[in-house]
Amino acid sequence: MDEVVALCKRRGLIFPASEIYGGIANTYDYGHYGVLLKNNVINAWWRAMIQERDDVVALDSAIIQHPRTWEASGHLAGFTDPLVQCLGKCKQRFREDHLREAQPEGELVCPVCGGELSEPRAFNLMFETTIGPVKEAGSTVYLRPETAQGIFLDFKTTLQYARRKPPFGIAQVGKSFRNEITPGNFIFRTLEFEQMEMEFFVPPAEAEKWHEYWMQARMDWYVSLGIDPERLKLRAHGPDELSHYSSATSDIEYLYPIGWSELEGIANRGDFDLKQHAEYSGEKLEYFDPETRERYIPHVIEPAAGVGRTMLALLCDAYDEDEIGGEKRTVLRLSPKVAPVKVAVLPLLRKDGHPEKATEIYHELRRQVSAEYDSGGHIGKRYRRQDEIGTPLAVTVDHQTLEDDTVTLRERDTLTQERVPVSELVDRVTDVTR
Ligand code: ATP
Repeated sequence: MDEVVALCKRRGLIFPASEIYGGIANTYDYGHYGVLLKNNVINAWWRAMIQERDDVVALDSAIIQHPRTWEASGHLAGFTDPLVQCLGKCKQRFREDHLREAQPEGELVCPVCGGELSEPRAFNLMFETTIGPVKEAGSTVYLRPETAQGIFLDFKTTLQYARRKPPFGIAQVGKSFRNEITPGNFIFRTLEFEQMEMEFFVPPAEAEKWHEYWMQARMDWYVSLGIDPERLKLRAHGPDELSHYSSATSDIEYLYPIGWSELEGIANRGDFDLKQHAEYSGEKLEYFDPETRERYIPHVIEPAAGVGRTMLALLCDAYDEDEIGGEKRTVLRLSPKVAPVKVAVLPLLRKDGHPEKATEIYHELRRQVSAEYDSGGHIGKRYRRQDEIGTPLAVTVDHQTLEDDTVTLRERDTLTQERVPVSELVDRVTDVTR
């Protein structure tokens, strides 16, 4: 993990937020390449959910919803972690369930100073804030701890305009907020994070079948992004682990440097949420099938993924070190699908017409894919820089280019360097990165 964190900082992908003030716990900023990588992950998710299917529609609901939302969803009463505080020297707080994993036997002690611990207290994970200038009764609202509830609130509206019948889904990507107190392990656990969630509404009798379907579909998606299948597994929750809303949940876990941990949860939420919101709002949240004349509350299968955890899995999976000509090289072997930059265009010299020709090629390529022009420093150094951010291809313009209109095309992984006519470049690059 340390190497990945260092690389992310060095190349400005991801770094601690508020650094000039000493940072703020479990909060990170994404720089240029981090944003490009993040967007590629999100776009790949939208593509799999919307573009390549007919049965899912998109939504972007508000972060701050009516406070009754969280009463109905059970988050106000139930979205808690058991917290213990060190009564010894360090006074730090910890999640009791996390400590229990590390200390399976006997009385728990503080993992930092060995001190005695307080009794556990339920601690709500939702961030509270206030609407209006004064804090008064009824003005308290919450930053959403998951995007899913916005989807349930809009179930009826979406059903009307989208003209879908179950099975159909509503997909959403957006920020969620949780007052996490455990150390975050880089972007694995942060206070604010982006979720990619889809609620798939099905006839009750089909829930199990669709749960199975989505578990497989979501595993396949991670593999399609280039993640090693050996480092992915499905793990079903035991009865004592299930959330208050769930009748069955399986996590997709990835073998992070911190061990097997949750990348995505795929829950069978039954009819819990629609029933609750129907009761609290007084609205009927059901589906009437005009063909069978049957009226029912759909059951819901929810694949809920984190953008940050997907990025961390991609980065850990892609990180590699090798040697070229006796020199150590750090390389991100990212799939071209998600790589922040697909092709770098490098003039060999900063004179003799190389920059002009390289700029021309760069302008042509960047109309198709994310490309970067780099003329700074020795060519070997520039290749290394691109390897570190996972750029799969590099195009070098040299003397010969000006004579016969060919360039060198270098591949990040095989290190092959091939002479290619400029006229074929766009096709060659888009073939690899599509
Ligand atoms: P954990 O048990 O690790 O706290 P969770 O089971 O509470 O996670 P879910 O409520 O199922 O998580 O959320 C769905 C997904 O959202 C998770 O699989 C994860 O990818 C992401 N996620 C949840 N909490 C965080 C967080 N604090 N930071 C980053 N991503 C998160």
